[in-house]
Amino acid sequence: MAKLGGTAEGNFRPSKEGFFISGGVFNLLEKLKELEEETRRSIKNAKSLEDLKEVKVRALGKKGSLTAFLRSLGSVSPEERPVIGKQANILREELEQAFKLREQHLRDMQKEGQWEKERIDVTLPGRPVQLGQKHPLTMILEEIKEIFIGLGFQVAHGPDIESDYYNFEALNIPAEHPARDMQDSYYITEQYLLRTHTSPVQIRTMEQLAPKLPVRIIAPGKVFRRDDDATHSPMFHQVEGLAVDTDISFSDLKGTLLLFVREMFGSEQKIRLRPSFFPFTEPSAEVDISCIMCDGKGCRVCSDTGWLEILGAGMVHPRVLEGSGYNPREVTGFAFGMGVERIAMLKYGIGDLRLFFSNDLRFLKQFG
Ligand SMILES: [Zn+2]
Repeated sequence: MAKLGGTAEGNFRPSKEGFFISGGVFNLLEKLKELEEETRRSIKNAKSLEDLKEVKVRALGKKGSLTAFLRSLGSVSPEERPVIGKQANILREELEQAFKLREQHLRDMQKEGQWEKERIDVTLPGRPVQLGQKHPLTMILEEIKEIFIGLGFQVAHGPDIESDYYNFEALNIPAEHPARDMQDSYYITEQYLLRTHTSPVQIRTMEQLAPKLPVRIIAPGKVFRRDDDATHSPMFHQVEGLAVDTDISFSDLKGTLLLFVREMFGSEQKIRLRPSFFPFTEPSAEVDISCIMCDGKGCRVCSDTGWLEILGAGMVHPRVLEGSGYNPREVTGFAFGMGVERIAMLKYGIGDLRLFFSNDLRFLKQFG
């Protein structure tokens, strides 16, 4: 801070104008002191860099108070002008310094405020990471695959959009066959549709492999039918199975299915085969397992029969073998197809198939 008092004292001397001028100097120095005090107060009160900038312009700017003061020195006598001028310049430098200090302080405060805002409280409990999990159908599908891969089957895939030929014709379901009515289909064009079953993969695989033996595949995938109720969905999943070789018999089919059922539902499970009809197998069978709810005693789930239907199967129809490049007099085969949702509903005791596709986490989280 400039020591104005002393300087004022030193210049307080009589002159031609006597006390008038000296009094003027004194007044000017007083004024300078007032200006200094006021500016320092404003600097101290400036709460932001913007405020401070305004204060600086008001004090040191072109139209600022100190600048105006210096300009007014024109009316001071030549002897006294340097004294006042010197003091004013010292004050200017000191104020510049004060502005700088305040600016730095405000910047620090700002930074600190920022830090305070961004501060992380490490003592707060962490937010648990939401881990996803497999969909129950994926889990069942993986289990099915694992069982059949263990039996020497390979996994094959086919397109979701299938031609009329592969979906029906090559499976011994010609254009006018009533079996087509059982599968309400989504046609895309006259010739193409969303596949109604995974059976076309049988044909595609045999066409590719013929005449090589053996053929042992399962074909998991989506299938589409115009159904929508508690036990049917317009899109659902099937797993197709196919085994072709020189000496495949019906008992191979039964043994394979029994083993699958016991792996899937428990070693005590029994199966029952009922004669049925599929155009692409002959003979054909519906396969039941002993009811997993009542162990075959009879309950609401099995309609008191003690049995639950889980899949369809049969020996590959000679016409299907022939159409796919195999000689039905030399080779035989079995095929089966099961609904993945059906297996999952039985295994987990789920009453409504639509739950699998409603994307309700309360349902899905139960399978983690
Ligand atoms: Zn039952």
